[in-house]
Amino acid sequence: MADRHVGFIGLGIMGTPMAKNLLKAGYEVTVWNRTASRMDELVAAGAETAESAADAARHDVTITMLTDSQAVEEVTLGPGGVIDGARSGSVVIDMSTISPSVTRRCAASLREKGADMLDAPVSGSLPGAIARTLSVMVGGEEDVFNRCVPILDAMGGTLTHCGGNGMGQVTKLANAILVMGNMAAMCEGMVFAVRAGGDPAALMKAFKAGAANSWMVENLGAKMFDGDFAPGFMVDLAQKDLGLVHEAAAELSVPLLTTPIVSQMYRAAQQAGLGREGIQAYVKVLETLAGVEAGQR
Ligand code: NAP
Repeated sequence: MADRHVGFIGLGIMGTPMAKNLLKAGYEVTVWNRTASRMDELVAAGAETAESAADAARHDVTITMLTDSQAVEEVTLGPGGVIDGARSGSVVIDMSTISPSVTRRCAASLREKGADMLDAPVSGSLPGAIARTLSVMVGGEEDVFNRCVPILDAMGGTLTHCGGNGMGQVTKLANAILVMGNMAAMCEGMVFAVRAGGDPAALMKAFKAGAANSWMVENLGAKMFDGDFAPGFMVDLAQKDLGLVHEAAAELSVPLLTTPIVSQMYRAAQQAGLGREGIQAYVKVLETLAGVEAGQR
């Protein structure tokens, strides 16, 4: 395989275990993170460090895993950014969740330098990033996708080529509609039943055994029940994804009937000071409204 050396930019909750999995798969990895101290864990695992995003992007393949559209645009196209290190034949894989329009703009700018781009956002959260079971939704040219399969496979469990540039992000936004609605429904079901005298443990057992079961129930339902609100996937990022859904739907004139309500729910969680907690913390908003606790606190 030709691409053995990978640049990795963005060592947050997701980026850190994903970069570690590349090292475990035998890739040489050069990391860069805005907050330099976050690189220490990767250096201890065998990575090299870069001086800047441009420096990390000298390699054949560069991966970015950043907060939002603004961060990706800044790090990719800004001064000292990825575009300054990229060259003809190199590939930039952005695995952040961002706007389909912004990813297409970045891809067009990189193409002018002869470099290719894939948008490859993921679903599966921190457990999926650690266990290498992420669903990776990829947009970009098919031959570029095929070239990058071994690298993506080192971080994800299921790779899906969804179409041209931007279609990975479109698929991820559709995925967000399902995920956030599922979480909101689970919290509402729990609080409703506990307020009526239900036992949270019995409820969880019943949900898991029937048609209500889902990744959300199995993973975040258990955390919610245990009073574990550490992120995973932060409320602030969930609200960011729902904002992207709203923007993209407006561009396409697609009416969305459920998602705007779900978005207001997560906004209420932000206003309650829960923005940096995991999305399971949304249950606390409903608990306050209903005057009941739906798990161990
Ligand atoms: P995170 O822990 O907040 O990490 C964000 C990373 O982006 C950090 O390395 C941060 O650097 C960097 N960053 C932000 N703004 C920057 C800028 N302007 N310039 C340079 N670096 C910048 O977030 P995360 O949970 O890993 O999520 C990363 C992406 O994956 C997001 O798009 C998110 O929506 C998506 N995602 C997350 C999950 C999840 O469960 N967490 C699941 C699926 C998808 P600093 O360290 O300097 O702050």
